[in-house]
Amino acid sequence: MSAALARGCSDAPILRERGQREVFCGLTGIVWLHRKIQDAFFLVVGSRTCAHLLQSAAGVMIFAEPRFATALMEERDLAGLADAHDELDQVVAKLLKRRPDIRMLFLVGSCPSEVIKLDLGRAAQRLDGVYKAAGVRVLSYSGSGIETTFTQGEDACLAALVPQMPRNDAPQLLVVGALAEVVEDQFSRIFAAMGLTNVAFLPPRRASEMPSVGPATKMLLAQPFLADTARALESRGARHIPALFPLGVEGTTAWLTAGAAAMGVAPERIRDALDMPQTRARLALQRCQSELAGRSVFFMPDSQLEIPLARFLHNELGMTLLEVGTPFLHRAHMTPELEALPSGTFLSEGQHVDRQLDRVRAARPDITVCGLGLANPLESEGMTTKWAIELVFTPIQGYDQAADLAELFARPLRRKDKLDFGRPPVAAGA
Ligand code: SF4
Repeated sequence: MSAALARGCSDAPILRERGQREVFCGLTGIVWLHRKIQDAFFLVVGSRTCAHLLQSAAGVMIFAEPRFATALMEERDLAGLADAHDELDQVVAKLLKRRPDIRMLFLVGSCPSEVIKLDLGRAAQRLDGVYKAAGVRVLSYSGSGIETTFTQGEDACLAALVPQMPRNDAPQLLVVGALAEVVEDQFSRIFAAMGLTNVAFLPPRRASEMPSVGPATKMLLAQPFLADTARALESRGARHIPALFPLGVEGTTAWLTAGAAAMGVAPERIRDALDMPQTRARLALQRCQSELAGRSVFFMPDSQLEIPLARFLHNELGMTLLEVGTPFLHRAHMTPELEALPSGTFLSEGQHVDRQLDRVRAARPDITVCGLGLANPLESEGMTTKWAIELVFTPIQGYDQAADLAELFARPLRRKDKLDFGRPPVAAGA
């Protein structure tokens, strides 16, 4: 492509950095996945550190009967003195006896289980054979933190579901990625208004509602961090529909339009179905526009949602993008997003945390999106931050959530403005 034809940031240079990174591991995905698949249980095979991470990440929700736990690996296991497979079998037997509501059990690998090379894939296969007749499927995936970022836990979990999906040769639209139920219901209603009813969602809400896949399946990614899942679905015949991600009015419209058009819905029917929710969402968005326009934002690489979020904040709210960092850049999935970014956006992939912090300090953004570990130090330096993980836990996709998403950025800035206003002015020469 010639320079004159390049759009947005599709051809922009990207700063690639490798160094110390400050991100949560893939176990974090359990916090939202266990709410999504309502009869699943996530059994982490890991250490006390893994248990603490889960407890603190999910600590805001106290359940009488939680649907995740950690099978603790003790020193004897790590030293190879105990038969970890035997112990795991016993833990699983006890768990399934006590919790007959479990229909799908995930054995989730961690750094310690990988270090001792505990083959959870083999364990899951064996236990699946034992419990299948009783209606419990046993699967495995890794949530280990080595060389991953926290949203990859969902990718690994969904990729583990793909071999369980029955084959289906009929045309269908498959929406891929965990969405809050309220968002999923909104999308189903909009597709139905276009006359599109053969729409399925992965992950399912219940183990028994596993969607099917086949060569006539068109897949619409709802999350930008599902490279392995998409690859697994493609190997079953599904075809990816390139689209913006459904963040903001622009993204939601483009995403719904791409999905419907790929299924042969006529353009006027799509326009009619989108007209009202789109207008409503634009109006709702206005309340944050004046607060956010002209404010600057810096994204550190964390959730892989950074590029679509940056596109939304710039294109719909007029924010200035100082740097958009992403842990990994999947070009094929991200092309429409890169094209929609303003040209000249500073993009970075990977992290060298010290160098990036130097750039944050030099740029003094109005708001920095980063992980929990970096937020407090930056706040103590007088900077305003937004936790990247909050953007994954909160329903932010779709029309009705566009204004709430803008509000997530406006609120900390509003708080900061109030604090600055209340502070006594610094005396000259102080
Ligand atoms: S999986 Fe690894 S990175 Fe994650 S909590 Fe356990 S030890 Fe830490």
